[in-house]
Amino acid sequence: MKFIEFDKTLCDNCFKCLRACPTKAISFNKEERKIMDHLCIKCGRCLAKCPQDALKIKNPIEQIKSDLSSGVSYAVSLAPSFIGAFQLTSPGQMVTGLKKLGFSLIEETAVGAEIVSMNYERLIAEKTGQQMVTSCCPSANYMIEYLYPELIPFILPVVSPMIAHGLYIKQRHESIKVLFIGPCLAKMAEAEEITGAIDAVITFDELSRWFEEEEIILKELATKKFDLAGSRRGRGFPLGTDFVNEQGKARSEHHFKQISGMHQCRSLCEELIQNPIEGYVFELNICEGSCNNGPDFPKNAHQRYHREKLMEAYRLDLDTDYGPSIRLDGNEVEVKRIFSHRKDIRKTPNHNEIKEILRQMGKYTTHDELNCGACGYVDCQEKAQAVFYGYSDVHECLAYLRGKAENMHSVLIDNSPNAVCTIDNKLTIIEINPTFDAIFNDTDVKTVGLPIETFIEEKLFVEALNKRVSVKSKRIYVPSVQRHFITNIIYHGGDDVLLCFFTDITPIEAKKKALEQVKKETLLKTQEVIDKQMRVAQEIASLLGETTAETKMSLNSLKSLVLRDQGGLLDDIEE
Ligand code: SF4
Ligand code: SF4
Repeated sequence: MKFIEFDKTLCDNCFKCLRACPTKAISFNKEERKIMDHLCIKCGRCLAKCPQDALKIKNPIEQIKSDLSSGVSYAVSLAPSFIGAFQLTSPGQMVTGLKKLGFSLIEETAVGAEIVSMNYERLIAEKTGQQMVTSCCPSANYMIEYLYPELIPFILPVVSPMIAHGLYIKQRHESIKVLFIGPCLAKMAEAEEITGAIDAVITFDELSRWFEEEEIILKELATKKFDLAGSRRGRGFPLGTDFVNEQGKARSEHHFKQISGMHQCRSLCEELIQNPIEGYVFELNICEGSCNNGPDFPKNAHQRYHREKLMEAYRLDLDTDYGPSIRLDGNEVEVKRIFSHRKDIRKTPNHNEIKEILRQMGKYTTHDELNCGACGYVDCQEKAQAVFYGYSDVHECLAYLRGKAENMHSVLIDNSPNAVCTIDNKLTIIEINPTFDAIFNDTDVKTVGLPIETFIEEKLFVEALNKRVSVKSKRIYVPSVQRHFITNIIYHGGDDVLLCFFTDITPIEAKKKALEQVKKETLLKTQEVIDKQMRVAQEIASLLGETTAETKMSLNSLKSLVLRDQGGLLDDIEE
């Protein structure tokens, strides 16, 4: 597994990680999102900034638990800043808590810091008059190796306190695994690179969660002593290396200067390359305020300056017995370290190449370079360089995308068959598209600046502004142009303006009218036919009635005749 894994399925392209990354070691291009090892100084700032948890770092806790339950013996090297990281009433409660988790040996990393300090003293004394930089902060070391390899000869060639302590524990305890616990993420990478000293690294935040899971409340525990306690000087490392002796005097003829924070460290390195400052030892710490302000303190840790106060008090407390100590001479373990040139040398883009990339991003003049930082880079030039190296794409530029969207938007509006205008809260036209002018204004007078009422009755617009609402699909007729429109008015609260769209439906209305006329005529015709049919029916009926009446009359006459002639004609017929 890489130091940091990037799960691109969780990434929502907010570029917060890239903005936070001091070396711009994250590539965001069409094909991939990844941390670039040759630039990453393992500071962990990106992890802290990602709101999506898309960046992940190895967490060895499950492995440690499994080791402990299968009887593997573990020692803890505990960074001195623990005192401000946890809610304790006494430092010894931390020892008890760690033993409860199953660790058999608890020592302070300050022991390793003392070994390192002794070696620094020796080297500084040998290199009289030179400029030097310390090697305690792995992120600062990575920064020099990756970005400023010219300074490698000036790094004090000594391992960090964590590595020195790990080696020292292993030298005294056979077959023991060593876990380092501190606020630093870079130590995880360092422990993997310099093998044989530290088996696992977890942060204070991870330890705090582990205690929570096990329902261990540190401040309620009894105290225990460290198996090996650190020196006063060693405990001072999280606040910056203590290069003065107990009387506050410098330990050599050199001047000592603490530099913390990425920006300060980088500008010092650039200055030292340009113009060496002889006779000075610079202590570099990437975290501003040194490890006391490291990246992974628990959420409920004491605040930064309270931590500083607690650490200072712990360091100066010579009265309390926190555990046995050993008189060291600095030769306990081999602390020599070699730093190597790891700068990725690439062709630097020339002026024209950068200019061409900026042009692709829609930046033709320096005025177009907004340097907004939205893409994650400090300015447009840095972004263009990243594009040149393939770490970023031109379309990741927000201004470029917005410009493109706005262009498309104005192309759409300008070519719309609908009349479009914007009106301010005084009902004055402030913008129109060509169709608006084509429909409503056949004069030479400029439309923009005129009241909307010049063209369209203002009632609907007044209503939208007064009620601060949008109006949807209202039919209006504009007598001056003899046209019908469907009107949509969008109220834009931010600017208190109306965006109005007029869809000309005059041809549809005309068709509708014609259709209605046809319907009307058809109805009339139908009625005529019905009336005529009725008349014919009535005539037939009356004719039918007349003949029936006549027949009836004839038959009745015949019947009367027959009845009157009884016995006469009828008798003859019978005979
Ligand atoms: S760990 Fe630091 S240097 Fe590496 S990618 Fe994250 S922010 Fe950048
Ligand atoms: S200053 Fe300390 S905590 Fe921060 S990166 Fe360096 S060693 Fe780690």
